[in-house]
Amino acid sequence: MNRQTQASLQAYHSFRCPSITEEEVSIRSEDDLMEAYRLGLFNEPWIVLGHGTNTLFLPRVSERVFLMQFEGFEHEILNDDQIHVTVGAGVEWDDLVEWSISQGYGGIEAMIRIPGTCGAAPVQNIGAYGQELDHVLHGVRAFDTQKGVFHDFTPDECGFSYRDSLFKRPEGRHWIITSISLRLHGASYQIRPTYPSLVASLNEAGISNPTLKDVGQHVAAIRASKLPNPSSQPNAGSFFKNPVLRGEQASRFMAQFPEAPWFELEVGMSIPGVETEDDGTRDASSHAIKVPAGWLIEHVGLKGEWNGRVGVWPKQALVLYHQGEATGVDILELASRIQDKVRQTFGVELEQEVRVYGVE
Ligand SMILES: Cc1cc2nc3c(=O)[nH]c(=O)nc-3n(C[C@H](O)[C@H](O)[C@H](O)COP(=O)(O)OP(=O)(O)OC[C@H]3O[C@@H](n4cnc5c(N)ncnc54)[C@H](O)[C@@H]3O)c2cc1C
Repeated sequence: MNRQTQASLQAYHSFRCPSITEEEVSIRSEDDLMEAYRLGLFNEPWIVLGHGTNTLFLPRVSERVFLMQFEGFEHEILNDDQIHVTVGAGVEWDDLVEWSISQGYGGIEAMIRIPGTCGAAPVQNIGAYGQELDHVLHGVRAFDTQKGVFHDFTPDECGFSYRDSLFKRPEGRHWIITSISLRLHGASYQIRPTYPSLVASLNEAGISNPTLKDVGQHVAAIRASKLPNPSSQPNAGSFFKNPVLRGEQASRFMAQFPEAPWFELEVGMSIPGVETEDDGTRDASSHAIKVPAGWLIEHVGLKGEWNGRVGVWPKQALVLYHQGEATGVDILELASRIQDKVRQTFGVELEQEVRVYGVE
């Protein structure tokens, strides 16, 4: 365990904004966590950090920051169709995806190139291009910083939902994830991409029976064409969640903005005038729908906005970015301008996906 006071967090989050924490502590093993507990380091406010790709730090962070640097990688072939893999919280998620594709193990191939650590993956139940972590998660091992004990969580205990889990909610924030286990699929895995832009990309390439490698390559190419690279244009991916509208609010929205696209929750995307996949109608009064936040931002005229220090990515309006000169405060100001305009125009609240810590 390494400890450093008055440490810079700039290199530890993908927004790369200047920020100083009272103390930074590197954690490399379960023994380090036990030692930190015995020293009482969890008795004062603290934060745990992976690679900081879903995090924005404001200039001054009073919390103690634990940097998760747990390694470890094991897998067990249960039979032709089931592979269990257990990885340390500090392992890069994309390394795990690349490995699974190279071994021919399916289940996470469409989540290629999501930056960050395996330990952070359950926190917001990462997902992309039709796959989500909770579809393959077998277990999570975590440290209870209140009691000083480890616990092995079942998927049910993790309380997963869209971009959310127990670990993200206030009642679960005293847990530090040390490893995750996934259940990947072997020979009988059926590769059936459903995500519209992925399907379109595969069709365009004339691929009707894609391999895991095809899916990985096409998703990686789509992502590279749409998202800014954090090393040249610091960002944290989607800044906002896609808002979920239910019942009357959903009906009102659809009646008022018939041109707006929406997703039936957990089903697929609906294009105005086209039948939905569940009951063949476009009446969402009894449904929950997810509206692409990027579309809302684009239609209040803020896609491509650049205010001199921080902007909205021209190819994907969900992403806020800068050129290395903005502070966390600049980014939050733009975020709140976007939220105000979307609320005024569409009556919809945009919730931040990125976790923000610190003060001006
Ligand atoms: C360019 C770009 C594209 C992205 N695309 C996607 C995408 O397609 N889908 C998607 O879901 N996300 C996406 N993200 C967001 C991000 O990659 C994921 O949320 C990722 O899981 C964050 O990992 P991290 O290690 O960087 O987490 P951090 O930012 O370090 O932490 C995120 C949160 O998890 C908590 N945390 C971290 N480690 C632990 C731990 N070991 N135990 C308990 N809590 C912990 C932190 O306290 C923090 O609240 C993208 C980000 C970027 C920059």
